[in-house]
Amino acid sequence: MTTMAPPKRPEIKTALPGPKGQRIVSDDAQWVTPSYPRPSFKLVAERGEGVWVTDVDGNVFLDCNAGVAVCSTGHCHPEVVRAIQDQAAKLIHMCGTDYYYEHMPALARKLDEIVPVSSPTRTHFANSGTEAVETALKLAMHATGREKFIAFFNSFHGRTLGSLSLTSSKVAQRRGFKRQALDVVHVPYPNAFRDPFTGKKSDAATVSRQCLAWIEERLFKTTTPPEEVAGIVVECVQGEGGYVPAPKEFLHGLRRICDEHGIMLIVDEVQSGMGRTGKMFASEHYDLKPDIVTIAKGIGSGLPIGACVARADLMDWKPGAHASTFGGNPVCIAAALKTIELLENGLVKNSAEVGGYLKAGLEKLKAKHDSIGDVRGLGMMIGVEFVTDGETLAPDAEMRDRVEIECFNRGLIILGAGANTIRWSPPLTLTRENVDVALEIFDEAVTAARR
Ligand code: PLP
Repeated sequence: MTTMAPPKRPEIKTALPGPKGQRIVSDDAQWVTPSYPRPSFKLVAERGEGVWVTDVDGNVFLDCNAGVAVCSTGHCHPEVVRAIQDQAAKLIHMCGTDYYYEHMPALARKLDEIVPVSSPTRTHFANSGTEAVETALKLAMHATGREKFIAFFNSFHGRTLGSLSLTSSKVAQRRGFKRQALDVVHVPYPNAFRDPFTGKKSDAATVSRQCLAWIEERLFKTTTPPEEVAGIVVECVQGEGGYVPAPKEFLHGLRRICDEHGIMLIVDEVQSGMGRTGKMFASEHYDLKPDIVTIAKGIGSGLPIGACVARADLMDWKPGAHASTFGGNPVCIAAALKTIELLENGLVKNSAEVGGYLKAGLEKLKAKHDSIGDVRGLGMMIGVEFVTDGETLAPDAEMRDRVEIECFNRGLIILGAGANTIRWSPPLTLTRENVDVALEIFDEAVTAARR
């Protein structure tokens, strides 16, 4: 008779952080910039394998955050590691701005096949999400000859000065940086759980209509002539803003507005792309065709690579207009090509299937715990919003923070997004067995965090 092995679980053996971890945290406090927005728990990672992370004191955690939605293929996927090692032994850098190597056209061609932008496309390579967004902004200005942008409250697009002009998820990201580098106006995002106009629960059709009317009836008729707008920048699922998917009718409304006024629709898929939502790109859930799309995070399984992919007719700028020394480095591209292969060969499907299983489990916990006001999301991009009670649905940021810590102390890594939401963004290799363990811990943590 065969006996089933018990599911693997986290193992916490020391206080957190343990003695080695404590030393690293205090060194970090002395030498590293204090501007990183670190959460109240302190994970000092040493090794990662799949969905498991071991800290420097030997504690083992189940990782449902994946280095903030980056390690799409899991930590140190052996095939990704091999692709990186093989490429590093051959050619690490050559500078694609001045020389050629096969990796750049190979990945650009592959992106043309998989992105939601209509083919033919062209790709500009970068090292991060923010740089991909900077590229999109410059490209939209260049292609339209205009310089205004529309972005959404609670959006996050990066922290360099151009993308920071769009970012509006937390005031700490902008405080002290004076005026925006770019001419950006912010407008309400259609969050049906928290109607941006009333703060109350509403429905997708109402918030979509109101948010579109805000742009067309107010903005365009008062401060912002549409013929001066270069681009509308939007996340199909707001990430740092709290894992909030937009309604389909809203995104189609934006597409219509852009078409009517010659505005570029820039969809930021830095967090929602690369299988995270159970399709390769979140835009696919909405049959949305952006003019320009930005990608980073999950594309390199942890190696720094970003991409701005646009309609080929838009990317007709001349040599020197935009480039990056490291962007599209051969080692990062080798990691990206292998990542895409793994995503196509099962991980996107797993994201949809196991993500659905995770969401169903979280919905059961919502029925059990009054403090959970909303469970929402697509694939393995799921937000759980905490509230003071099931009646008023008032946001409860402190409860969210306590849940985060209670999970961590039990060996489950999850991270906040927005003011009072926990984001689930695990490696796309997560299994149902992992989900059962994670949900059991989450349930205990929510109970323990109750006051
Ligand atoms: N855009 C979105 C939607 C993001 O979620 C992020 C990062 O969280 C960025 C852009 C910026 O990416 P990076 O931190 O790589 O600059």
